[in-house]
This record gives sequence, C-alpha cells and structure tokens, in this order.
Amino acid sequence: MDIQSMTAAELGKRIRSRELSAVEAADACLEQIEKMEKQVNGFVRVDREGARKQAEAVQKKMDAGELTGPLAGVPVAVKDNICTEGLETTCGSKILEGFVPAYTAEAVRKLQEAGMVILGKTNMDEFAMGSTTETSYFGPTKNPWDLSRVPGGSSGGSCAAVAAEECPLALGSDTGGSIRQPSSFCGVVGIKPTYGTVSRYGLIAYGSSLDQIGPVARDVTDCALALEAIAGHDPKDSTSIARKSYDFTGGLADGVKGMRIGIPRGYFGEGLDAEVGQKILDTVRMLEKQGAVVEEFDLDLIQYAIPAYYVIASAEASSNLARFDGVKYGYRAEEYDGLHNMYKKSRSEGFGAEVKRRIMLGSFVLSSGYYDAYYLKALKTKALIKREFDRAFDSFDMIAAPAAPSTAPRLGESLSDPLKMYLGDIYTISVNLAGLPGITVPVGTDTKGLPIGMQLIGDCFDEAKILRAAYACEQIHAYERPALVKEGR
Ligand code: GLN
Repeated sequence: MDIQSMTAAELGKRIRSRELSAVEAADACLEQIEKMEKQVNGFVRVDREGARKQAEAVQKKMDAGELTGPLAGVPVAVKDNICTEGLETTCGSKILEGFVPAYTAEAVRKLQEAGMVILGKTNMDEFAMGSTTETSYFGPTKNPWDLSRVPGGSSGGSCAAVAAEECPLALGSDTGGSIRQPSSFCGVVGIKPTYGTVSRYGLIAYGSSLDQIGPVARDVTDCALALEAIAGHDPKDSTSIARKSYDFTGGLADGVKGMRIGIPRGYFGEGLDAEVGQKILDTVRMLEKQGAVVEEFDLDLIQYAIPAYYVIASAEASSNLARFDGVKYGYRAEEYDGLHNMYKKSRSEGFGAEVKRRIMLGSFVLSSGYYDAYYLKALKTKALIKREFDRAFDSFDMIAAPAAPSTAPRLGESLSDPLKMYLGDIYTISVNLAGLPGITVPVGTDTKGLPIGMQLIGDCFDEAKILRAAYACEQIHAYERPALVKEGR
C-alpha cells in the first residue's frame, strides 16, 4: 500500500514499529502534495523544510522512547485560520498576508505534543465565510472527485487535501457547517465537537459563540483519535469546558443495537436532492437492521435557523474583524491620508466582497434602533431552537440528517447568488446555534459519481455515540477514493 493512502492510525502503527520513519511519512505526503496541488489547490502554504525538521525531531523522540502515542510521526494539515507560530496564517485573506503568529493555537500545540508533523496551511473561504472555498484570496480549491466542482467550504482545503491523500488528517473549523458540509462534498469524515470541547485559543474568530475546531480524516477511527488529541479544558479559552470524559475511541465498534435514531421529517422533503435523501435513508434502514430503533419526528423552527444564524454570525464577525485595521496585523494600504483614511483604505483593499457584506450586515443588526429587532430576536430564536433539540434528545440518541441539500455544485454556480448559498447551510447551521456535536460520514455516491455524506447530530457531549454510529455506517459503505487519486493522475 502507498504510504500516502494509509490512514493516520495505520501510519502511526508502522512508524512505531519502525517499518517506516516519520521522515518517510512526511516525504510521502510532500510528494503527493507536489503531484496534486496544481490541480486541487488545497493548501495555501506548504512548509516543506519545517515539516522535515519536525519529522526528524519527532523521530528522535520516538527513538528515545519519549513519544509513544498513536499519532506520533503522522503528518497533518491545519486550516489557515488556526495560528501556527512562525508559519504565516492568513484566513485566506489579503488583509492577513504576511501575518506570522507569535504563538501556536492550543489545538495545534496538542497535535504537536502528540508528535504530529504540521505540513502546512489549508485553503478556506476568506475568514471562514462561505460554503465553497471560492471566496479565498488565494483562489478556489477544486474538488478531487471532479475538478470542475467546489470542495464545499469553508474548510474546503482541509477536506480536499485529505481526499486527495495529501495528508491523512487535517484540522478544520465549523461555525455553521464548515467541517461537515465540505466533508460531505469530498467524501471524507469530519466532526464538529460540542461547543467548548476543543480550545478556541489561537483560532482566529469568525462567530465566537459558534466556532469550533474539529478534525477531518478518511475514516471514523482517525477522526476519533484526532479529537482525543485536540480536546481538553483550556484555561486560555473562557468558553472551554472541563468534560467528564475525553474518550472518543473506546466504544467505536460497539454497534448501534438499541440506539434510537430520529429522522426529522421536514429535512427529507422539498429542497433536498432526491438521490441524497434516498442514500441517507437507505443507510439508516441498514442501521435499523442492525438493531437501531428508527423513528420519524418533527423538528420545528428549523426554518428560522438560517436568518438567526446569519444575524448572530455576522454581528460577531463585524466585531471580531474590527481588529484588522492595518495597524497590528498583515496588510496596510500603501498610500493614505491620515489615520482614518489608512484604516478605511487598508480594510477596503484588504477584505473581499463576502467579508464586507457580513461586516455591513453585522454592523447594521447591532446598531442602536435595530439591535432589539434583529440581534436580540435572533438570540431568542437561538434559545428556542436549542429547546427544540433538547426535546428531540429526550426521545432520541441522535438525529440522522443530510449535511447539504445536494452533492458538490460546479465552481462559479454559488457565488452569484449569496442568498441561495446561505440556504445551502440549512442542515448544519442549527447544530452550531445549539452547540451540539455533528459528524459527516460518507454513504455512497450519486449517479454523477459524486460523494454523498450523512450527518449524525448528537446531544451535547455525546460525540462517542455519533462516532459509534458513524463507524457502523463505515462498515456498510467502505471508503471510496476519488478517481484522480486512484489512477494517480
Ligand atoms: N457557510 C456558513 C457561513 O458562511 C458556515 C461557514 C462556517 O462554518 N465557517 O457562514
């Protein structure tokens, strides 16, 4: 088997048994990156030298018996909105060009502590605003399954890189679906943990009350392993939670017998591509045959999730992005006339159209006179949506849903109509509003040969349950590799 097609667990095992060295593993990924990147553009920055140096250092520690964990020596990619000391971090934006963080995000530090080797930074929609990775200043990422299509977004770079076997694992971030939706479009597994599970320290904020970092991988086991590595209470993040358990790999293979799975009736009607719906329902039926208890139910208020989300996320973004003013970080306009003009020109030239749209929307809903009508109302809606989910989890262990209304659209199809693009977030956004964990797992392909993902939504802190069910789905649908990769094109 080629090194680059191995899962992280497999790679880690072989490195530990000295069949492979950490440097060989890094080199195999770097070679695959060399081969794939011209077509895929999943990375905005590859740290070739740094990766080899890290691999050598990790190998030394492993040889000395100081590093023994399952991910030691395994390469990983990091989304470009997660800070890496000494390695440029730009959020896919011109305004952060040249910004080299002076510190490393807690999630990345934990990966390093586990002995993982950082390969570079992955492409994303500018400041994680978007669903296609087309709003990146560094040009769009292409879907390895069909290069004329988008990989989804905003963590499209991470998901495409994993699908293209440029790395076995990557970190993404999810504010309204940015891990789960591109995982669906690229045929990989991605989990958004319960809010507060993974430290946001060093994650450049978009919507702080919604953002969570999570892993993307080619199988559920890798996802669980990586989540175990990055999760944990962090005093540096005031929203971080000290959980009772951080065991996500323990019961993976325990099966779904007795698990109660809810199917929200409204999710499978109008607006959902028929093939996507069918594949998901077929998979749920198979879980039922394995002993899961499946029942339909009504999840109300979901139609209010999109407006509530776009009000809250934009409001928080407008405040979070105020710090990019040409003074402290990255880009500053070359010519200006005084301080205020410098702010104005740096921001006008540095931010892209989608980011500006969100800043304007956010500033508007927070302005006096509109605050109550929009922002406060959105917060109330968020609370009601959380209550709906609470009610659902009285009866169910998890909810099975699509991750997106369709398979991957063509490049250029979504950007012309932002409102339509926002509607594509319908299945993922409410999960962030309620702070819940959600995972996407591949369940086959459509007649165009594009991957379809199923989303499993759990109650707060129930990652282990949705991972277990996702693992069962994986036994039904074996992982498929994109032709581009299989044929080594
Ligand atoms: N598509 C959504 C947005 O544009 C979600 C993005 C995300 O999760 N970062 O806001």
